[in-house]
Amino acid sequence: MTTQIKVGNVTIHRVVEQELPIFDAFEFFPSLTKEIFEENQSWLQPKFIDPSGKVVLCVQSYLVRTPHHNILVDSCVGNHKPRPARPMWNMMNSDRYEKNLAATGIGIGDIDYVMCTHLHVDHVGWNTRLENGRWVPAFPKAKYLFADRELEFWTAKQKEDPAAHPWVTDSVLPIVEAKRAEIVKSNHTLNDLVHLFPTPGHTIDHFSVQIGKAGQDAIITGDMIHSPIQARYPDMGMRADYDSKQAGITRRNLFGRVCDTPTLMCMAHFPSPSTGRIKRWGDGFKVVEA
Ligand SMILES: [Zn+2]
Repeated sequence: MTTQIKVGNVTIHRVVEQELPIFDAFEFFPSLTKEIFEENQSWLQPKFIDPSGKVVLCVQSYLVRTPHHNILVDSCVGNHKPRPARPMWNMMNSDRYEKNLAATGIGIGDIDYVMCTHLHVDHVGWNTRLENGRWVPAFPKAKYLFADRELEFWTAKQKEDPAAHPWVTDSVLPIVEAKRAEIVKSNHTLNDLVHLFPTPGHTIDHFSVQIGKAGQDAIITGDMIHSPIQARYPDMGMRADYDSKQAGITRRNLFGRVCDTPTLMCMAHFPSPSTGRIKRWGDGFKVVEA
């Protein structure tokens, strides 16, 4: 299955690796109360939170095809990777991602850039593949864009405690060692159709990607939001945030800017169709599916 989105002369495909209920909502959103949940239950369930109370998440890449480049934004969990702390992602061996990527008509040799919005385990996995027991870049001609402070942060974490950060070891550092990393500021213009801009908070130097031109544009959000409950309540953090307060400010700023405009938001983890436009809703925002 492939899903195609047209934005001016750019085509965006979703490449899905997984879509399923994963984490308990009250653990995932530590500030979510029973009262807030009940007030919003009618629209949250079953689509965004399943009947057992787990947050339904997609794990996916966005493949952006401009007239000049093929760009993969985020690279999911990946296969054959030891993830002892995350049983559902440990040593995955699924052909779903590769099949969905192939269905776009773009091969691994056609990818010019891989952009990781941040360096969490579910955004870097397909960066590398195993070759004769070594992790090597999976996209043979791609440059991999990492934000400088993000890379610095996770490199230091890995050095401190390698066992707790296996995804940095097998999916980030081999890219740097192979000299395929292009280390950029989180505010970075690739060309007139692709611009990275900082959306910090979930991680220290998280970026989102603006695609297209004003009036015909899309934003690939990465993890600046995980669920529409965080649009309704922009200050609601999730448990893996580096700085939930800053993440809340980032949501208020970005949603305030794109509210009531045609800008299409492409979320990393929202269940299908994962895309929508932002409208105001009380003190917060609503994501209207599109
Ligand atoms: Zn994520």
